Amino acid sequence: MDAKRRQEIDLFKVAGVQIAIDYSWIVIFLLVLWSLSAGYFPEVHPGYPSSEYWLVGVFGTLLFFASIVIHELSHAMVGNALGQPVKRISLFIFGGMAHLGHEPTNANAELKIAAVGPLTSFVLGGIFFSIPALLGLRRAYPMWSSVFDYLGFINIALGLFNLLPGFPLDGGRILRAALWARTGDFRRATARAADWGRGIAWGLIFLGALEIFGGALVGGLWLIFIALFLRGAASSSYQGIIMEQVLGGAQVRDLMVREPEVIEAGTTVAAAVEEHFTRHGFTGFPVVDNGRPVGMISIGLIRDCPPAERASKRVAEVMRPLDPALAIAPGATLAQALRQMAEAETGRLLVMDQDRLAGLITRGAIAHFIMVRNELGFAGDDAAGPARAAPPRPAETPTSPPPPTPPAAAAS
Ligand SMILES: [Zn+2]
Repeated sequence: MDAKRRQEIDLFKVAGVQIAIDYSWIVIFLLVLWSLSAGYFPEVHPGYPSSEYWLVGVFGTLLFFASIVIHELSHAMVGNALGQPVKRISLFIFGGMAHLGHEPTNANAELKIAAVGPLTSFVLGGIFFSIPALLGLRRAYPMWSSVFDYLGFINIALGLFNLLPGFPLDGGRILRAALWARTGDFRRATARAADWGRGIAWGLIFLGALEIFGGALVGGLWLIFIALFLRGAASSSYQGIIMEQVLGGAQVRDLMVREPEVIEAGTTVAAAVEEHFTRHGFTGFPVVDNGRPVGMISIGLIRDCPPAERASKRVAEVMRPLDPALAIAPGATLAQALRQMAEAETGRLLVMDQDRLAGLITRGAIAHFIMVRNELGFAGDDAAGPARAAPPRPAETPTSPPPPTPPAAAAS
């Protein structure tokens, strides 16, 4: 998980929830700022000095993103109250994201956590719409009045957009909660909601294409990017849930190869090929030095070593040195092992019991395990019997704002 967070900047904490921004967020911040300050306000309220457009633009843009954070915070507050802790909220290019510690454990909690987001946006929209009248801005400061109208509009749009019934949008989570409550089957409810998510993504892509043909290039492209993101998120959250459910609580020690064959660090590459790789047909081996694990050698690393040098080069010179990303504890779950392999871009991990090499776990073995479980009906629609509780896994509720529409002028 941490590998994906490296490109985030932590801002501040609100009620124990860390607010962070991803570098990609800077792109959308500048786009919204520019479209307001250089497009929308100059067109709707001509005749002001440009510094005032930028002042209003910065104000509107900051409140725009504050609105998204408040939307996410509402998910977090309700989640925390219902025992579904949220420790982190990130802003990124497609909006905001609340990172739930795990999936909700019952339909009722899911419904409340999901529904409070759009509700909060509607309330915020109402507040922004009423500010100009309350402060008497309409006549005296028409441009400041219209920035509040814009914020009111954007919050209502945010609420409506996120109510679209496609997982993992809030509306899709509400749909899943309803299906889950009716059937008691978390997995099928997720599958249906994810299908809707993909369907809605295709609908948005179609709308985006129409916008582009209609001349709104930026808005159309933006809609398509958001749709592609949502489509990917729908598929991967569903696959993640299936994966964790099929893997169950199985641990690395259940499936690892005990006492795996190892290669001495001082062996030449040529000898390693001759005596280990071609003899057993394995594609990778732990490397040890005086019985101590020091790295991993794989067929890919051997290929990268020119044949002419293989007779003189030692395995220690071409191996991937042992680092924490390559090692996993015997008690870790298979799902954790798969995630770690993906992040470390490797097909195998050394199973380390303190400093001792306890075994080797490979992606191939886990894939085989999944296949066997599938064959035995673990993913079968009716084989599961009574509904199982939702498995613990990281979950995310993204909140995507609609495309920054104001640049009617900016696009021309
Ligand atoms: Zn939301």
